[in-house]
Amino acid sequence: MEKQHNTSDKKRTNYLSWDETFMLMAGIIAQRSKDPNTQAGTCIVDESNVIVGLGYNGFPRGCSDDSLPWRRGLEFKLSETKYAYVVHSEVNAIYNANKPVKNCKLYCVLFPCNECSKTIIQTGIKEIIYQEDWYHDQEEWIAARKMLDMAGVTYRQYTPQHDIKRLFAQSPQANTQPNNPDATNTDEFIFEEII
Ligand code: ZN
Repeated sequence: MEKQHNTSDKKRTNYLSWDETFMLMAGIIAQRSKDPNTQAGTCIVDESNVIVGLGYNGFPRGCSDDSLPWRRGLEFKLSETKYAYVVHSEVNAIYNANKPVKNCKLYCVLFPCNECSKTIIQTGIKEIIYQEDWYHDQEEWIAARKMLDMAGVTYRQYTPQHDIKRLFAQSPQANTQPNNPDATNTDEFIFEEII
C-alpha cells in the first residue's frame, strides 16, 4: 500500500515527550531480562537527552542464566536464590554507560533499592524518573529515599502524556507482518505492562 503523505507545513504536535521516549526505552530493555518474576529496565541520559547507557536485571557477564538460580523465597539459603547473583538494572546501566554519568538522569521501571541508590549517588546521577514504586514501605526503599534526600538526588514518578498503545497502532508499521511469526505468539511480551 502506498504511503499517504501529510501535506501540512506545520510540525507534528502528537510526538513523544522525552520522558515517554526514555521510559519506553527502559521498558523495552527490561524485556531482555530472564527473571521469571521481575523485569526491570533502566535508561540513563545526559543533560542533552542523549542516551548514555541501558541496563536490565540479570546475572554478571559470564555467569550462565541457566546455571544460577532464579528462585526467590526466604526458605532458601541466599546462595540458592537469585538475590545473591542478580545485578540490578540501574547498576547495569551505569556499568554499560559509554561515558561518565555525572549529572545524568536515570529512567527506571522500578524505584531503585538502597544498593542501587548508593551507586546512583556515588556516580553523580542527579535525577531519577521512575514508573512503579511497588516496594515503597520496605526497609530497603525507606533507606534508599533517606540517602537520596540527603545527597540531593531528586526523584519523581513518570506521567505519560500519550496513550502509547494507540500511538503505535496508528503507525504504518503496525499493519505490517513481522518477519518472525513467533514474536507475535508469545504472551510474555505484553507491551502495555511496560508503559
Ligand atoms: Zn537495586
